[in-house]
Amino acid sequence: KIRTRIAPSPTGFLHLGTARTALYSWAYARHHGGEFVLRIEDTDVARSTQDSVEQIIAAMNWLGLSYDEGPIYQMQRLERYQAVIEQMIADGKAYRCYATPEELNAMREAQKARGEKTLYDRRWRPEPGKVLPTPPEGVKPVVRFANPVDGDVTWNDLVKGSITINNREIDDLIIARTDGVPTYNFAVVVDDWDMRISHVFRGDEHVNNTPWQINIFNALGAPLPSFGHLPIILGDDGLKLSKRRGAVSVMDYAANGYLPEGMLNYLARLGWSHGDDELFSAEQMVSWFDGSHLSKSPAQWDPAKLDWVNGHYVKQIDESRLAGLVVDQLKAKGIEAPLEQVQPKVALFKDRCATVAALADWLAMYFAPVAPSAEDLAAHVTDAVRPALSALAERLSALAEWNKASIQQALKETLAATGLKMPQLAVPVRVLVCGRAQTPSVDAVLEQFDKKKVLDSLQSV
Ligand code: GLU
Repeated sequence: KIRTRIAPSPTGFLHLGTARTALYSWAYARHHGGEFVLRIEDTDVARSTQDSVEQIIAAMNWLGLSYDEGPIYQMQRLERYQAVIEQMIADGKAYRCYATPEELNAMREAQKARGEKTLYDRRWRPEPGKVLPTPPEGVKPVVRFANPVDGDVTWNDLVKGSITINNREIDDLIIARTDGVPTYNFAVVVDDWDMRISHVFRGDEHVNNTPWQINIFNALGAPLPSFGHLPIILGDDGLKLSKRRGAVSVMDYAANGYLPEGMLNYLARLGWSHGDDELFSAEQMVSWFDGSHLSKSPAQWDPAKLDWVNGHYVKQIDESRLAGLVVDQLKAKGIEAPLEQVQPKVALFKDRCATVAALADWLAMYFAPVAPSAEDLAAHVTDAVRPALSALAERLSALAEWNKASIQQALKETLAATGLKMPQLAVPVRVLVCGRAQTPSVDAVLEQFDKKKVLDSLQSV
């Protein structure tokens, strides 16, 4: 059975890179009718918080990445890890190491001085015929894995292809700290084994951990999962995407008016392709995502492309849902806007908006006072046009019905009476009523305003 997992450390929000890994793991499981597990790697007790767990879950829910099991917390599995460690020690597959940090430092300095790689010298590893030192009083030991001393570790990475590491390159990994808490590389193996994970997708930064993990799987007699290490995501400065260089939290994008459809579609393409397809739904991705066509090269985070993809969904999604999201965005700006008044307006502006936030920026003029800029007023609301604006206000005020056609009629009559061209009149109207010089068709924009508000704005000069 195909089983995948996402194993975030709850030390913050759901990072875009982790979200992409989660998406691929989820899609792979769904594609194969398998299962997807959420595991919380909280062994870094000082930095892990429940608040972060909740944020991660909220972001997964927002993206629609449903999991079949979990959240499973590593800190609730300590007894299990300890039992496995004890068994490994009993079997000679792991051993206690009492070397102090000072001793290990001295060891490494000596290795460096000899021009050697700094690897633990296995001084506490029991070996036939070797006499071990007496454990010093008061030193709490760590537990180390007895890594094979020679031979190769090879795996066929789903992304990178065949990778081989010689065991002489790696040392005896610490699997439990002095306080008994297991290290990442050990807990992850016990978990992936117990949770019957068949495919591990994770970031590139873990590729160096995989040889140790494979050796531990083998020592435990556990079946090996397949591994796929996804290349890093680069920011536009060519460096790894990070908090310092802009938003990396999925939920920040939600707050900034991106849609889950857009985010998911964009993340999917960040390291995976399906022919020339750029726009596709989660369902389509699931039907296509079979682990092939994963890119080996780093992915480039491209805000303009994200906007393009998201804009597609802003146009496409159900208008009542879009209106609800606009209401939330407006509320976040301190503007109360009733849904039934927002909804008829979204169609007018949504085609020019990449995000719900951009749409809310447009619609704010209907629900909050507008403040034309001094530059726009000076440039467009000139003395030459003022009489025409008053004449238009009079005609609008006299209208029996307030709709696009009647507003258009009033505009045309004003043009005929004053000899102005449409832009000469429409631009100052926009500046006064909407607070900006460019909008969609002015009659359609005005129709959505309360008549009195339009007249007040026009008469404010
Ligand atoms: N907790 C690890 C991380 O967030 C998980 C790595 C893995 O998937 O094995 O990077």
